[in-house]
Amino acid sequence: MSNDRNNPSAIVIGAGMTGIGVVIKLRNAGITRITLLEKAATPGGTWRENTYPGVACDVPSHAYTYTFAPNPGWSSLFASGAEIQGYIGKVFHEHGVDQHVHFNQQVTRCRYHDGRWQVTTATGEVYEADLLFSATGFLHQPAIPDIAGLDRFAGPRMHSARWDHSVALEGRRIGVIGTGSSAAQIIPQLIHLPGTEVTVFQRTAQWIVHTDNKPYSESDQQRFQKKPALMERIRRRSLAIFELGTTALTSQNPIYRLMHHLFAWNARRNLKARVKDPVLRAKLTPDYTFGCKRVILNGSFYDDIQRPNAHLVTEKIDHIEADGVVTADGCKHGLDVLVLATGFDASAFMRPMEFRGRDGLSIDEVWKEKISAYRSMLLPGFPNCFLMLGPNSPIGNYSVTAISEMQADYAIGLIRQWQAGTLERIEVRQGAFEQWRSMLKARVGNTIWASGCQSWYLDADGDPLTWPDSWKNWVAMMKELRIEDLVPAEQADDIKPAANPGYY
Ligand code: NAP
Repeated sequence: MSNDRNNPSAIVIGAGMTGIGVVIKLRNAGITRITLLEKAATPGGTWRENTYPGVACDVPSHAYTYTFAPNPGWSSLFASGAEIQGYIGKVFHEHGVDQHVHFNQQVTRCRYHDGRWQVTTATGEVYEADLLFSATGFLHQPAIPDIAGLDRFAGPRMHSARWDHSVALEGRRIGVIGTGSSAAQIIPQLIHLPGTEVTVFQRTAQWIVHTDNKPYSESDQQRFQKKPALMERIRRRSLAIFELGTTALTSQNPIYRLMHHLFAWNARRNLKARVKDPVLRAKLTPDYTFGCKRVILNGSFYDDIQRPNAHLVTEKIDHIEADGVVTADGCKHGLDVLVLATGFDASAFMRPMEFRGRDGLSIDEVWKEKISAYRSMLLPGFPNCFLMLGPNSPIGNYSVTAISEMQADYAIGLIRQWQAGTLERIEVRQGAFEQWRSMLKARVGNTIWASGCQSWYLDADGDPLTWPDSWKNWVAMMKELRIEDLVPAEQADDIKPAANPGYY
């Protein structure tokens, strides 16, 4: 069956913030035959799955909002997870995305066959379309630490992204492994519960920038309602601050280098001002460059970790027993509940589904040497397929909503070219893909993310999975289609995909 360029169909995998945005943008572009496949029974993605106490977004709410669906009702500068989930649900229904969705459809296989994508789900349904968008998120598969005896722990144990709300926490001894962005939000909440003793197992100290969460009053919300330009101003201002932060982390310009030092100085000053005990302060002081790991924005962690029922343990964990965690110094920390705030496998793009492009080419083959995609989105051998928030998408702490909107616009720009007949199919040339990988290899190695810390920003080889430059330069790149990087119409039939390109 050949594809229909005048009235193409699309499959979007994942009804999270990104997938929903793609559906709306496609419809606005006149592509209406859309099937949205979602593995769960409700939309929301990361905000549906992360329901731990204190879950919130560290990007200001007006900057974490779709440009086409401003929300005057945000209750504060940084919205809670539940509030974001409510917003996503509202957009999902108000923009008619619900007409396209098929819930409880976990995709197990995607296969490009005869010019179209065939998508199979765990229930055995097969869907077909001309265009495929994978919007499955990159912080999706919980990373379970490989610690001896973990399975022997007898009490309740849960990962931050799989919170078990049936577990009673008051009055209990709770251990938290990890001090990343999720842990920094969970720990203060646990410390404030009546009667808890909270032991935090920190492997690496974090850079924390103090941020207070300003509530928006009813009159603020009414003003936003009456004057949308006000919200837009806040959105732009918030994004400009994140942009500045990202540029300070990536630019070699002396002014930005200075700014980077100022950010670090400010974070250190905040630590010194809030944590009086020099021993505790030393334990909380990072020994790597500011920005190497994702910077944590938090208003209460330093205050709460000093409360009498909070215990910071920096000794390495040796093993876990039925009733506690034993550290390398032989000390046993008795626990009733264990929380794993140990992050995600950020390289598990679209896994564990089987993904095959032209001539049966498997994505595992293409990514055997290195996980990468041209502009984070396109792969040779995988025509008319767009990876949303694919490898190297994160741009520092920048709003992923803004990033995914830009990626959707880029995809639609290419679809227009395909519809106009400039392209036989939307597929990056092997050479352009290689150039992209070489460019990344040359640049990411010099970035702050490769300056000697461990984080989910790095792939298995220690190479950053982030964009190595500023937001501004990324936008400039994404606005330029560079059709010459794609397989031209007249050569489309001759090109065989390389099984294992083996760059690097
Ligand atoms: P994370 O940043 O990867 O942090 C994982 C934590 O677990 C780190 O402290 C890590 O220590 C520790 N850890 C992992 N394995 C361990 C082991 N075997 N033994 C001891 N400690 C171990 O994960 P996350 O906190 O879930 O955050 C992931 C990302 O989710 C964030 O960077 C952010 O992008 C996103 N997020 C965003 C928000 C938001 O507000 N927008 C909120 C939460 C999460 P090391 O540092 O030593 O590796």
